Amino acid sequence: MPEHLPFAQVIVDIAADSADKTFTYRVPTGMRLSTGTRVLVPFGRQTKEGVVISLTDTCQVEEGKLKDIIEPLEDYPAILPPLVELAKEISMASNCSLALALRLMIPAEMRAGRVKVKTQTVARLMIPADQIQQAQAAHARAKKRVLLIQLLSDGLPHPVAELKALVRDPHEPLKVLAEAGIISLTEEEVFRSPYVDSQPLQTDPVLTPEQTEVLQELLPAIQRGEGQFLLHGITGSGKTEVYIRCARACLAAGRGVIVLIPEIVLTPQMVSWFRGRFGDVAAVLHSRLSAGERFDEWRRIRSGKARLVIGARSAVFAPVTDLGLLIIDEEHEPSYQAENNPRYDAREVAALRAKREGASLLLASATPSILSFAKAQRGDYMLLEMLSRVNKHQLAKVSLVDMREELRLGNRGMFSTLLMERLRACIDAGQQAMLFINRRGYAPSVMCRKCGEVLTCTHCDVKLTYHAADRMMHCHYCGMASALPSVCLACGSSYLKPVGAGTQKVEEEFKKLFPDVKTIRLDADTTTGKDAHEQLLNRFRSREAQVMIGTQMIAKGLDFPQVSLVGAVLADLTLNLPDYRAQERTFQLLTQVAGRAGRADIPGEVIIQTYKPEHYAIQYAAAQEYRGFFNQEFTRRRKLLYPPFTMMVRLLCESREEDLPREASTQLSERIAAFLAKKPGLKRRVLFVREDEAPIKRIMGHTRAQVLMKILEHKESEQVLAFLNDLAEEPWPCKVSLEVNPANLA
Ligand code: ADP
Ligand code: ZN
Ligand code: ZN
Repeated sequence: MPEHLPFAQVIVDIAADSADKTFTYRVPTGMRLSTGTRVLVPFGRQTKEGVVISLTDTCQVEEGKLKDIIEPLEDYPAILPPLVELAKEISMASNCSLALALRLMIPAEMRAGRVKVKTQTVARLMIPADQIQQAQAAHARAKKRVLLIQLLSDGLPHPVAELKALVRDPHEPLKVLAEAGIISLTEEEVFRSPYVDSQPLQTDPVLTPEQTEVLQELLPAIQRGEGQFLLHGITGSGKTEVYIRCARACLAAGRGVIVLIPEIVLTPQMVSWFRGRFGDVAAVLHSRLSAGERFDEWRRIRSGKARLVIGARSAVFAPVTDLGLLIIDEEHEPSYQAENNPRYDAREVAALRAKREGASLLLASATPSILSFAKAQRGDYMLLEMLSRVNKHQLAKVSLVDMREELRLGNRGMFSTLLMERLRACIDAGQQAMLFINRRGYAPSVMCRKCGEVLTCTHCDVKLTYHAADRMMHCHYCGMASALPSVCLACGSSYLKPVGAGTQKVEEEFKKLFPDVKTIRLDADTTTGKDAHEQLLNRFRSREAQVMIGTQMIAKGLDFPQVSLVGAVLADLTLNLPDYRAQERTFQLLTQVAGRAGRADIPGEVIIQTYKPEHYAIQYAAAQEYRGFFNQEFTRRRKLLYPPFTMMVRLLCESREEDLPREASTQLSERIAAFLAKKPGLKRRVLFVREDEAPIKRIMGHTRAQVLMKILEHKESEQVLAFLNDLAEEPWPCKVSLEVNPANLA
């Protein structure tokens, strides 16, 4: 018990843009607080929530001006001290207030007391086993009481709600038994578990030689609580089993584990699989949990009941004490970068946390990001490889189809002759197929055939996508839906035509060819419900449908043994994105999609349709050759000076007022030019400064402008970043945010 320290420095949870300031409060005698405790404090005329970030003996403020802390919100520090430190680091690195960074550390619903601890009445036997018969005899004429004693004779706690199902109206007899001292009735916390029926413990498979080898490196490092690793394991090489063995070793050493998985793969299936191996020590955090469930899972972790956390990006902040291991599955996924303030990259946060808390870090993927693999080559991560599939399953045979050639031969459809032929064979053989196209909806744009006008959203500078399901035009940025106009708004002609293809169109075309074959469509439109994603996957798994059509959602981490054919309907979609990472994304997606085929004893086949069969991203994906791709892409980035050789840095200006962003971006670029003019040494490191409208000029009614910069990766460049950081923090008439290598440059 620490001695009473009379002053607390508190970060008050107030709106984001206010400058960071700690406020000093007096701790009333007898109130027990520690670093990370959430408290209620008087603030101006209001009462606010805050977080204690330190306790001190002395204080700078005049005693008379100090106010008392009203009360702690919990009787334990909700934010662990190392996470308070982590929040400080994040607030510095990503140019956000500490109050905002601290919000990352607790479930949103905990703030402003939006969820409460749920309790229930629990009955427990209070007498020793040898007195049970005697007690039953004493109550022999009250049948319910005898039965209740019987039910409780196992000595375990039983919720009254559960007893109700077995004994009608048990309240009165329970009360009598409690008064007689035979049982106790207490109020206890309920943990709303999102996955009640977890599977029984499964047994361990015998490890493959590659798994054994990789674990020989990992396990000793985990014992020592050190090491940062990148595991490149091809699809189906058994990475999950490696995670499980590492996690188990870490738990056995008494330390906690966090496993990060892209949101999309985080299905109850995956979760129950982990639960099957780890039981109740595993907790789950993802966005589809209800507020109550998320809060309860968080508390199971904070209280130490759960020592292993599986979760999406934000689970990197899970309150695991004595953390020993952080695992990041599918580390190449862009979803590990948070877009909104505070911007953070879960991979970087994980590395920081691992160092600070003495934990090992394991990043893994079949297609590691160029940045991570480059770090491994440089020696920042230790590289581990698993290059063959479990049980000697062969990688699928991949064929490329040149769609230009198809057109020349008179096939104007979406499916090449080869794909149609193989689909037929697969279906006739009773096997399953997947069709992949990385665009949802029916047609990505609607064009007037007379004047060429393309319909765009009224709130965003984005083409509207036509959806056949509701016959409406949808904006994929703001969600607005509107009816298809009967005439062109520009020229009045009635020749409006949907062009291009999305998942709905592929489904429609498929049905024309195979009217009797059942299909399932998996994309953002069919998976809005809480368990929709899981249900669709289960229906496919139970072979209710033979063909699944989907976006990148079907590319990731799914293990369907019956899938023998995978078709990528139009591989070029990602290749044409205006982003220096388009090649990398294309390679990753195609390799991952191809990895879905042939995961059991049936040999798999993959057909990739493209207009650019000669492109190296497509060639290497077809060959499933990661290193070849990495080398060529790395060379290209060096030549063209893209990350990791440079940083793409942008100051994004946004406002509802149409003119403000562009005015701000102009001024910003002038200030940058003036700064660099004074520092010729730094100027050499800045390859360009371009001021312009953002590629998407408007999103949800906000006009957007930007200053885009390419800056060499160099020690001196930090000074430029520091300057830009300060610049962004100045009071501008519109929102200005600094982004360094953002996941999205739109
Ligand atoms: P990856 O994530 O590397 O693509 P998975 O972890 O999904 O691969 O493993 C592929 C399949 O192999 C899964 O069905 C898994 O249960 C199985 N598996 C993994 N390791 C072994 C092993 N040592 N022996 C038998 N089956 C294994
Ligand atoms: Zn027109
Ligand atoms: Zn819109």
